[in-house]
Amino acid sequence: MMGKAHFIIGTGVSLSLLALTGAPVTVGAVAIAAVSSMLPDIDHPNSLLVTRALPTKLLRVLQSAMLLIAAALLFYAPVEQPWNSVLAAVAVVAMFLPEQALRKGAFVLIGLAVIVFGERYAPWNRMGGILLIVFSLAPHRGITHTFYALAAWMLLLYGLTGAHGPSIWLAGGLGYAVHLACDSVTKNGIRPLPPLKAKIRFALMTTGKKSGKRVERIGIWITIILFAGVFGIRLIEYGARLYLRLTS
Ligand SMILES: [Zn+2]
Repeated sequence: MMGKAHFIIGTGVSLSLLALTGAPVTVGAVAIAAVSSMLPDIDHPNSLLVTRALPTKLLRVLQSAMLLIAAALLFYAPVEQPWNSVLAAVAVVAMFLPEQALRKGAFVLIGLAVIVFGERYAPWNRMGGILLIVFSLAPHRGITHTFYALAAWMLLLYGLTGAHGPSIWLAGGLGYAVHLACDSVTKNGIRPLPPLKAKIRFALMTTGKKSGKRVERIGIWITIILFAGVFGIRLIEYGARLYLRLTS
């Protein structure tokens, strides 16, 4: 399924369900629902999240910096010859890696930095760093499209924000779950519990095909109707209460 459909359906459906549970729909909940509806595709080469989080320009800067890093490693690395040359060679090779591999590498380094330096600020940074590394190394529809990843994401959010109420971890979990549900209607489906081979697959559509576009459009309409049903009633209630207060 395309990113835009994931974004609209994931955010709309999860916020509607969140409201139905009675949890407050906060600004944070809206933001985390939107992020979570895209998060499983973080390992996808064209994923909005990955390209936004690491724009191509920054990648080019990183690539150019690799030469400096190689030189620095050659002359200043705190290791014996020939290991400093090996490290320098690795940096030069990394410079010519294909874009996607470079992106993944950069994400792994960011994850490592979060683990090493973030620990001081909040113990949860370690888990966030690990999650970042696992997600960036995973093949598309690999580990990020499993129930393990869903559980890990919810646990992470629960650990970080559970003390302030259920809105954030519920919205995040719902957004992520709706993404998996959407992908399970595609031809590829998902494998939710590897190494088990069992798939969830309804094969209603092929992403990018005309039939796929139609299914996406139907999904978006269902989302709009659900959203209007849940929040429309709330708005009418709110308006009625305001009217009664003003007229009494
Ligand atoms: Zn996906």
